[in-house]
Amino acid sequence: MARIAYVNGRYRPLCDRAGGGPIAIEDRGYQFADGVYEVVKVVRGRPCDLDRHLARLARSLAALDMPQPMAPGALRAVLREVWRRNRLSTGVLYLQVTRGVAPRRHLCAADIRPSLVVTARAPAFPGEAEVTGGVGVITLPDQRWGRCDIKAIGLLPNVLARRQAAERGCREAWLVDPDGMVTEGTSSNAYIVDRSGRLITHPLGARVLAGITRSLILELAARADIEVVERPFSPDEARAASEAALSSTTSWLLPVVAIDQQPIGDGRPGPVVRRLMALYGDHVGSLAAAVRPQDVWVSRQING
Ligand code: PMP
Repeated sequence: MARIAYVNGRYRPLCDRAGGGPIAIEDRGYQFADGVYEVVKVVRGRPCDLDRHLARLARSLAALDMPQPMAPGALRAVLREVWRRNRLSTGVLYLQVTRGVAPRRHLCAADIRPSLVVTARAPAFPGEAEVTGGVGVITLPDQRWGRCDIKAIGLLPNVLARRQAAERGCREAWLVDPDGMVTEGTSSNAYIVDRSGRLITHPLGARVLAGITRSLILELAARADIEVVERPFSPDEARAASEAALSSTTSWLLPVVAIDQQPIGDGRPGPVVRRLMALYGDHVGSLAAAVRPQDVWVSRQING
């Protein structure tokens, strides 16, 4: 079945290959990476933490002085419709807003109309081996810009670092800032657990993205009486930690069991991270099970 995308007012087949695509060459997203995005998990037809994603989208747009592409209610309707047309049950929605189409000059008219694209795809969630056995990360210099709190589509340093991680058989690269501290991964937030069972992660600010999954993990940890400390940590401290983890919408919470080929703790997922994984799983499961018909985006006829 062809995948369906929403592109500036129309639902149309998604062209995966070059040619015939519906995006203008002079879209500023294509020319300058002048735009922002969100990735939302949908489980059994239920979008997870959509309010938080839309609030972050509003913050990213405001930071770039871009208007909302449409009213929040209309945007939710478009997301729901893309999901419905793609006949998926579980997967992710991708939403991208760029500043719009204009002749390729750095400066453009202030009243330019933003472009909105929404796509959906089946899940690429971690497999059993990564969930139960954990994953490895490497450390690399953080070469990104100074506003990593904005979920901007310009991800070149992230992409290059991720390639290096993959070349070394690792799931993720943890980025190290000029002060020698781990900020986050290329597409995930980073955590360690110290010998006292405290969960440590970089504080919010311009150097990290305020991950939606991060916000939930910290809330679930606090509720489970796991002490949370928001402060930077160094690669040396991470290597000496008893546990480590990463989180994102698509990775959920994953145990990190090796940093730069060195095992963390005993090289296996530890109790604090496993507990938080279970709590986060329950959170997602409870959203999926919640009885709010207006939020369940998959019709029974389609998915049974
Ligand atoms: N940091 C970066 C740099 C990311 O790209 C992402 C995922 N988009 C995250 C953290 C995790 O954010 P979330 O939990 O909202 O997916």
